Formats: sequence, structure tokens, C-alpha cells
Amino acid sequence: MKKHTLTLIALLVVLSVKAQIIDVHLHSYTDTDYWGGRTHPTGIDSPKNAEEHLARTIALMDKHQIEYAVVSGSMESVEKYVLADARFIPGYMDSEELLPIDTFEQLIKEGKIKVFGEVAGVYFGRTLNDPIYAPYLKICEQYGIPVAYHTGGGPPMTPYGCCPNFRIALGDPYLIEDVLVTYPKLQVYLMHGGEVYFEHAVRMLSMYRHLYVDLGVLLWVDPMLNDYAVRLLKLAQKAKTLDRIMFGTDQMVWPESISTSIEFINSLDFLSEKEKRMILYENARTFLKLPK
Ligand SMILES: [Zn+2]
Repeated sequence: MKKHTLTLIALLVVLSVKAQIIDVHLHSYTDTDYWGGRTHPTGIDSPKNAEEHLARTIALMDKHQIEYAVVSGSMESVEKYVLADARFIPGYMDSEELLPIDTFEQLIKEGKIKVFGEVAGVYFGRTLNDPIYAPYLKICEQYGIPVAYHTGGGPPMTPYGCCPNFRIALGDPYLIEDVLVTYPKLQVYLMHGGEVYFEHAVRMLSMYRHLYVDLGVLLWVDPMLNDYAVRLLKLAQKAKTLDRIMFGTDQMVWPESISTSIEFINSLDFLSEKEKRMILYENARTFLKLPK
């Protein structure tokens, strides 16, 4: 009996340890900026409004035992999500106009911005190295606020739609090397792992030992991006930098992509269980300095 109880406890420990996940790349919306309601080409359904999006995102976090999730969007949407669930870590996603610098600093002091990002400058024709970001980066370095930076491309036809100044080439991680040199204590993670520039992302990881990446979109959007993810992870394995690769979904308006992304990581045979756990959980815990 005692033996059976111990076995059961051991099993529960293994299961609970295995299930822990941190997602460093989710997005929040209000009804004003929500653009969902359309099924993704992969067949993933989209909630019809922002409220349903929030509810489904939370339900999936429960289902997959996601312990924390960095969520970014407008400050209004982020506040709404954080209020609904304390597991959300608030990130400020910039738009063409940035928040006034005093407001930015004040929101950091109030704990309302804990991550600067997704920094989406590429959509407006600029990189993180653009002088517009300099005062923000200085503050982030000073307060220990991590910067989450969009790298790689974007959805099809982007320059003809929202963002005439968008260029794929601006998403090359090499373009922000100066930022890492100028702000040596700044914590940065490259969102989407460089995407088409995944080799550059891994090379940056091997040069800058405090740099991290996340895998948002590479895990679920389409087979080309899945291929980047596989090649990135294999290269990072060779470069011994898997300890700085973090799980992120970038669910946008398709919350169920969280499940697809977790399944994709778990399906990769060339990763050991230990490596999967590092990617799904431990690396983010270290990077975000989360309490034990
Ligand atoms: Zn994103």
C-alpha cells in the first residue's frame, strides 16, 4: 500500500513537473483593436470578439498549466488581461507613436510595464537601433526591464496593407548588434527567433551570452516557419545555446495556436525531454527572474 502511494506521488510529481510551461509571447486586445473573427489558413478558429479571445486564452493556459505568460498589446488591453488573470506579465507593445517617456517610466515604477515589447518597429520601418528607442532602452536597462523585439518577416502582403515601411530585411537580428553593445546590461529577447534569419539569431546567441530568443509563430503558422524552427533548434543544439531559447506562441487572434505550438515542440524527436523542458519552462523562468 505504502509502495503504491509512493509510486502515485512520484507519478504526480513527474506529471506536474512535465506540464509546467511559460509562454513569453502572447497578445491582448480590446474591442477597438481586435482583428479576429477569421479562421487562420491552418484551420484554427478565431474568437469573434476581444472578450471571447481573453476567455479562450485563459482557458488554454489552464488546460496546459501555463504558469506565466508575457502578454503585449496596447496598455489598455494589457491592463484588462492582467486584471483578469494574474499569470499575465504585462508587456507594452509599441505602435508608430511611442508612449511619452515620462509615462513609460511611471508605468514601469507602478509595475504596469514589466516587459518592453513586443517592440514592433520593423512594421514602421525602423529597428531597435533607431534613435527613437534610445531613451526607452536606457530606462529598461536601469530598471531591469526585459526588451522583447520582433525579428524576421511578417504576414503576406504586409507593405501593401497596414505598413508601407515594413521590410523583411529590417528583421535581421544583426541590425541590432549595436544595441547590445551600447547597453551591455540590457536583457533582450529576439521574438520569432530571427525567423528567416534564424542562423543570425543563433550566431548572436553564441556571441552575446545574455541574449535570448523566443519561437513565436515558427511553431504553428505554416510549414516554412516550422522548417525554420527545426533548423534553428538543431543549430542551437550544436551551438550549445538551447538554454536561451524560450517557448512563445504569438497566438494573435487564434488562441488555439497555443495548443498547436506545444504539440509541435513535444513532437520534435531530436530534442531530449530535458531540452524540451528547458525550452517550455526553465529558460523563461531564468530570463524573467521569476520567483521560485
Ligand atoms: Zn507577436
